[in-house]
Amino acid sequence: MGGDEAGRPRPGIMPASAWRQSCRQGWVGEPSATRQIHLSSPPNIESPMDAELKEALLERCREMEIPLVGVAAADRWADPPFEPWVPGEFWPQAIYPETRSVVVIGLPISLPALETSPSVWYRELYRTVNILLDQYTYRIANFLNDRGFPSAFVPRDGYADVEALLKNPVAFFSHRHAAYLAGLGSFGVNNVLLTRKFGPRVRFGSVFTAAELPPDPVMEEDLCTRCMRCVQLCPAGALDDRDYPAGITDKSACTAYSASLAKRGVSPCGVCIKVCPVGEDRELYGRRDPSIYARGDGREDLRRGWEHVQSYGGR
Ligand code: SF4
Ligand code: SF4
Repeated sequence: MGGDEAGRPRPGIMPASAWRQSCRQGWVGEPSATRQIHLSSPPNIESPMDAELKEALLERCREMEIPLVGVAAADRWADPPFEPWVPGEFWPQAIYPETRSVVVIGLPISLPALETSPSVWYRELYRTVNILLDQYTYRIANFLNDRGFPSAFVPRDGYADVEALLKNPVAFFSHRHAAYLAGLGSFGVNNVLLTRKFGPRVRFGSVFTAAELPPDPVMEEDLCTRCMRCVQLCPAGALDDRDYPAGITDKSACTAYSASLAKRGVSPCGVCIKVCPVGEDRELYGRRDPSIYARGDGREDLRRGWEHVQSYGGR
């Protein structure tokens, strides 16, 4: 499914080496990249399209107060929605061949903490959300295992630390592409998935499952307004003003900036998700106007609070 018999990649699916070049400073790590991917049907697993199982799963997610849940059929990875697309060895069935569906959940990043970034407050929020994502997806995988469908959660951060990212700024699986295929949002110029509820202020976790769950439709609406605030305010100059995926984040520049914040104990950065006007959460927090983040633009009360938080807890 990753290419023809001669090993040529399908149109739209780049060999990882080419993808790495297209990403300037790379998404893809050292290639195992050009090897051919052969996807197979899960052996000895009966998994009829199971609407009742999905409803039970959604109910379980409601009990856990997970606000965003979507399902992508695993074979969607083999049908690129845009180009260049994720190389074959990053697809769910290449990583765990029994995968038939990918369940993706999203948890919000609350704006008042994010606004203080770079800060210990945002760092702790980020870590907390990551821990919850791992715990929830672990529990969802067990929920499906208990019902006879082999499943495994995929850790939120598929890398050791920022030093590992400096060597290779790519994880073994992309949750944001999974979230896209699960219908949870559309890509913004900032390369992040924008959701209706939280704009880009949401983090995703995934579960690979052999259950054949009814998939959710991919979002057709394009949520990005092309305001270019993310591009203009990125402190590392890492964002391109073209639409994703023509405009790819310079991951090395972004990671180098994050590493400099990590030395001070206040990573990650988060500016490109803070300034984005998309998301109903802006209404909730009374932050409809993102021009408040430009220097010298009123709201000294907010600025004093942010500077106070930034003055404590970091190195
Ligand atoms: S996280 Fe910060 S450095 Fe990285 S792209 Fe976003 S704004 Fe730029
Ligand atoms: S800040 Fe503006 S340009 Fe950037 S992703 Fe959000 S809406 Fe799109």
